[in-house]
Amino acid sequence: MSKQVQAQIRCPNCNHQFEATLYFSIWIEYPENRKLIFDDKINVVTCSACKSKTKLPFPFLCTNVKEKIAVWYEPYPDADVEKDVQQYVKHTGPNSFYATAPRIRDWNAFKEKIVELEQRTGMRQAAEWSPEMREKFQGFVQSLKKKQDLRPAKPVAEVINYKPGAYCQIKLASRERVLISCAQTGIKIVKLGLGGLIPTKTIAEWPVAQIEAAILIFADESKPTQHPLDAIKNKLTLCSSVREIEQLCKGC
Ligand SMILES: [Zn+2]
Repeated sequence: MSKQVQAQIRCPNCNHQFEATLYFSIWIEYPENRKLIFDDKINVVTCSACKSKTKLPFPFLCTNVKEKIAVWYEPYPDADVEKDVQQYVKHTGPNSFYATAPRIRDWNAFKEKIVELEQRTGMRQAAEWSPEMREKFQGFVQSLKKKQDLRPAKPVAEVINYKPGAYCQIKLASRERVLISCAQTGIKIVKLGLGGLIPTKTIAEWPVAQIEAAILIFADESKPTQHPLDAIKNKLTLCSSVREIEQLCKGC
């Protein structure tokens, strides 16, 4: 359960004192809880006298147990946070995701860290496409007309990292790096910076509902059973730069 605490608050606007309930931990596998954070509405209190709203810099832990994500928002060094961390070390081991949860001081950096961890687990879990998605893909490919592919067959890029069905990192001839990720939610191509460590730009994105658009660009009609990730990988390794990929993705 999300953990809440009662606190005495003094309104910064009118000095009125009132009691409010604050989150000390919150489960973000529940979308409404996650939204509280991303809408900047968590631990926002309304003064009972003057009705002004204040966002309190109160530390709390957000977790998604299913995805093994835990991140602290700790705007100032806090003894209760420290105590909780020690409890987690004791009860879940020093290497558990609870015990190693990052403690982040800055509010925006805190939210970015959550997104970063979610993307990482998303990639890890997107091992296979649903049969429904695969069928859609194959059905479409069979309806395409044969056309001559005049592009040179020789790849000019290097595959750095590849997990079948999930993701693929490519270093292009231009030395730029891109990451293709396939998840249940759709397909995404991003540009990576810092030697492949950080996504710096979304080049193209297709939610599941728009997957045909991606198929139209990347499908290889001679290999109708090919996984979409492989189809995209094969086409992108023929591109020499991010600019070329952008043009390819815009082409349809
Ligand atoms: Zn007030």
